[in-house]
Amino acid sequence: MNSTPELTLENFREGLVKRNPGEPEFHQAVMEFAEFVIPYINANPKYLKAKILERMTEPDRTIIFRVVWEDDAGDIRVNRGYRVQFNNSIGPYKGGLRFHHSVNLSILKFLGFEQTFKNSLTTLPMGSGKGGADFNPKGKSEREVMRFCQSFMTELSKHIGQDIDIPAGDIGVGSREISYMFGQYKRLKNEFTGTLTGKSLEFGGSLIRKEATGYGCAYFMEQVMNHRGDSIKGKVCVVSGSGNVAQFAVEKITSLGGRVVTMSDSSGFIHDPEGINEEKLAYIIDLKTVRRGRIKEYADKYNCKFFEGEKPWSIKCDLAFPCATQNEIDEAAARELVKNGLKALAEGANMPCTGEAINVFLDAKIPFAPGKAANAGGVAVSGLEMTQNSIRLSWSREELEGRLKDIMSGIHKQCVTYGIEEDGNYVNYVKGANIGGFVKVADAMLAYGVI
Ligand code: NDP
Repeated sequence: MNSTPELTLENFREGLVKRNPGEPEFHQAVMEFAEFVIPYINANPKYLKAKILERMTEPDRTIIFRVVWEDDAGDIRVNRGYRVQFNNSIGPYKGGLRFHHSVNLSILKFLGFEQTFKNSLTTLPMGSGKGGADFNPKGKSEREVMRFCQSFMTELSKHIGQDIDIPAGDIGVGSREISYMFGQYKRLKNEFTGTLTGKSLEFGGSLIRKEATGYGCAYFMEQVMNHRGDSIKGKVCVVSGSGNVAQFAVEKITSLGGRVVTMSDSSGFIHDPEGINEEKLAYIIDLKTVRRGRIKEYADKYNCKFFEGEKPWSIKCDLAFPCATQNEIDEAAARELVKNGLKALAEGANMPCTGEAINVFLDAKIPFAPGKAANAGGVAVSGLEMTQNSIRLSWSREELEGRLKDIMSGIHKQCVTYGIEEDGNYVNYVKGANIGGFVKVADAMLAYGVI
């Protein structure tokens, strides 16, 4: 009889790097997952024998295409568009589109891979994907953004559909970009279906979709604190970013009684020791989504400090919420946070902490909620948007917020089930989220046989 040798982290890493050269972000995301899942796979030979991990780390397909558009000066511009359709074992491909100059295959594969387990944790029937382009909407006119989105969708529309692949927003893709893309999809296909989520309310969008990732992250942190007999109330909180996720994380943290003292953008961070209250947050939302300005303007208006080119992790806090981008907390920043008395961290962004930083938190036994659990609220409400589109109904804000809360608390339960340590006290949320997300997808893949 054939006996499959056990997986080791080193052998697996070697194969992964060989198959995917020059993709450091993808290697990082997969290895963070593999560290906790390999022992589980070795202990459950049905997954080992079926080579589930090797299959899961290979996307179903990757589409790369040319996006040509004309700028306001009449010059022709060429960008590269992508869609990585990662895994559709438990539902159609689902995941955001990112428009940012840094977009490349490695980043989209890391995001698509993480999305597999995040979507599984929500318990909704959603597979995983991610896409985008190396296009930077910053500094472009409305018309230029529109022309780019239309050209991008002209090709993408051939590969997506309400039962095939349902993209959403991510960095650089907000409601404006989704609207342009949805309009073009509708025009090309002559159909009105829920093929994109994050749509505006007037044409099939869902209430609280734009708030969902930030709200969900705050709810998740509340669960983490409650599990330890504590809460967000009265805690000093440090948030990075000032985009979609950060804005609504700040709103919910504040309503749960926390005091948020920082926000940031790619030019630096502001420190407002009195806290960013409702009125100040409304200023930031207008600054970032309407005027598309820089965070420094907040410091000028509210007379607080702006730290140019810096990240907020040196500020003393109880709770940290990185909500900007990947790898924004390295080992040194993690050590500083721990030294300053950090009680817990929840990732609003995808992979904002490096592997070394995560180990600092785990070694210090600080609850660390990884993005695939803590920021799953966005895709969860996207899943609910798909349901509403399919049944041609819209649910109320209360109904949706109740469902979001239940989903976040269900994710927390799965993390505790698979991540609680033998002492029955510390929850390793990284282990819990990875194994919890893995099992459902792996069992579906096993059921399908060798495909
Ligand atoms: P936005 O584009 O709305 O905001 C991104 C924010 O992060 C901005 O403040 C931006 O600053 C800042 N930022 C971007 N790149 C960098 C960088 N290299 N260094 C420092 N700051 C940076 O994006 P979202 O809020 O939607 O997404 C933020 C994170 O959350 C991403 O990791 C995304 O993948 C993740 N996420 C988003 C979900 C969603 O529903 N939107 C769902 C789940 C995860 P600036 O204005 O200067 O560019």
